[in-house]
Amino acid sequence: MSKRRSVWGIEGDVLDMINEASRQSFPNEFVAALRAEEGIITEILLFPGSISNERSASMQLHMLPIDFSVVGTVHSHPGPSNQPSDEDLHLFSNFGNTHIITCLPYDRRSWQSYDREGARITLEIV
Ligand SMILES: [Zn+2]
Repeated sequence: MSKRRSVWGIEGDVLDMINEASRQSFPNEFVAALRAEEGIITEILLFPGSISNERSASMQLHMLPIDFSVVGTVHSHPGPSNQPSDEDLHLFSNFGNTHIITCLPYDRRSWQSYDREGARITLEIV
């Protein structure tokens, strides 16, 4: 852990918004893109409609316009695990370098962030 990642933090409000949206989408998955400014995730970019499974989530992400402030993705799991599935790992490797998965009960301890290889990373809540 010598050099700081280009994306190293997330605003607490954004995290709360993600968890609230995940609760509202349950039992479907909530999916969004992450936008960062100066290394901190400050915004989520929503997709129209609801997502019912991981495959359709990946497809929607691939249809996003190219936007260089988008650094990765966030999605919810309708269960108690925030471990990436095979489908998630495929998505991570194709889309950005910072990914968040949140799971039940969708609070500030139920999320985990990953890099494009699916390795756990730490984001500071700011
Ligand atoms: Zn997933």
